[in-house]
Amino acid sequence: MPVIHWFRRDLRLTDNTALNQALAEHPGQVIPVFVLDEGLLRGRDVAPARVRFLLQSLADLDERLRQRHSRLIVRRGDSQEQLLALVRETGAHALYFNRDNTPRARARDAAATVALQRAGARVEPHRDLTVFEGSDILSQAGQPYTVFTPYKKAWLSRPRPLPADLDDAALRYSGDWPGSIDLPDESALGFACTQQVQQGGETAALALLREFVKSRRLHAYAAQRDQLAEPGTSMLSPHLRFGTISPRICARAAEDGALTVDKAQRAGFDTWLSELIWREFYHQVLYHFPHADKGNFKRNTDALRWGNGDAKTDQRYYEAWCAGRTGYPVVDAAMRQLNAIGWMHNRARMIVASFLTKDLLLDWRMGESYFMRQLVDGDPASNNGGWQWAASTGTDAQPYFRIFNPRLQSERFDRDGVYIRRWVPELATVPDRHVHAPHEMTPLEQRACKCVIGEHYPAPIVDHAAQKEEILARFKAL
Ligand code: FAD
Repeated sequence: MPVIHWFRRDLRLTDNTALNQALAEHPGQVIPVFVLDEGLLRGRDVAPARVRFLLQSLADLDERLRQRHSRLIVRRGDSQEQLLALVRETGAHALYFNRDNTPRARARDAAATVALQRAGARVEPHRDLTVFEGSDILSQAGQPYTVFTPYKKAWLSRPRPLPADLDDAALRYSGDWPGSIDLPDESALGFACTQQVQQGGETAALALLREFVKSRRLHAYAAQRDQLAEPGTSMLSPHLRFGTISPRICARAAEDGALTVDKAQRAGFDTWLSELIWREFYHQVLYHFPHADKGNFKRNTDALRWGNGDAKTDQRYYEAWCAGRTGYPVVDAAMRQLNAIGWMHNRARMIVASFLTKDLLLDWRMGESYFMRQLVDGDPASNNGGWQWAASTGTDAQPYFRIFNPRLQSERFDRDGVYIRRWVPELATVPDRHVHAPHEMTPLEQRACKCVIGEHYPAPIVDHAAQKEEILARFKAL
């Protein structure tokens, strides 16, 4: 009798826990299914960049399945209704899927589980989106960790599941295929992505990881990862977001690589593994503290006052930030990178998030939501965690006085202004010594390099020193 594997954030064949389990228990009986869920596609924070990446990933998944004498059944509508219809059409007696523990996904899965069980199908959820999930890792007192370093220590001390191979032969489905729609293109779904988004799909993901290892960028990761202009990081985040690569395979690459070098050279591998663990940390934070999805993780920061006292100013600041026209070159470069390619360097994300909350005094939720609508890797757990960390309402172990100075960050992580000039072309001709603060040029210098402040490039919209005093006072008042 057939069973269904419901693909969601696991759009791959390699090392897919629920799929492997379904194939092991029901060889030749597994129907691979993806539902284009109307509710998700019409959601508030949906991003055209992610829709494009999703469609590319589904096409690649279908191709990889067909190479193995299977195929992807695609349905469109409400997930629960479509799954129930498929169960009725095929007589499937079980549904396998990998859990997504973000609050909205949990609610959707709980409802679908009840409905499917009522229809007589067994429901088999598995752990896969992260190496460890939910309550896998708790403190000795049985409590969830809220600080990263002890969580990481506990994570590293646990035996980790190894990546598992796919049983290709078991994929060949022996029954009659149910109906499927052709994969629509973005415009048929009502989207028009204008960003140059990286290629989706498992094939691209595996190639990216191979190249990251082979080019030795993983070796150099600790030294290079903060340099804004360098391709020092893996760019695997959208693939981890959509599960076109398995987190176990990534963790394994770091751990295996670490075994090939002596202790002094391990930093790259250890640091990359640590970043993967940050992802796991934020997922378990949101699982245990679902109030953080919409509210402050630290409830004592609920009384914090955001804003500049008048809605017009707030709106003007927000629009300048979104468009990359704040007059702070590193902030503007980062926002324009996001707007252009749907991805932003991690250091840059920290800088712009600190700037929105601590310089423009705007509520972190405004930035979180803008990121979700632009990012190809937009993930409720990591995005929320990153924003609340930067706003000092989240899990940052430092007290509230972590306030990034955009100019110092820029001088440190983009010394020669290569990143700035790449994304802010009007600063291309500004001399090196002024590229981090072009407004300091004399009028003569501005004319000489054809970058007149206020005409070609904006003056800083706020004064960092003054805003810093203001936000410090607000935190002190709590
Ligand atoms: P690499 O440096 O190669 O790291 C490998 C992987 O580790 C990443 O792909 C990612 O999955 C994970 N990772 C790395 N750093 C972090 C981190 N600080 N927190 C959580 N996971 C991490 N990441 C997202 O995947 N989705 C988001 O929506 C997201 N929003 C963010 C918002 C803010 C304000 C901040 C400060 C960070 C955010 N991050 C988010 C984390 C991080 O910026 C990206 O994961 C990283 O830039 C992706 O690039 P990469 O794949 O080259 O990372």
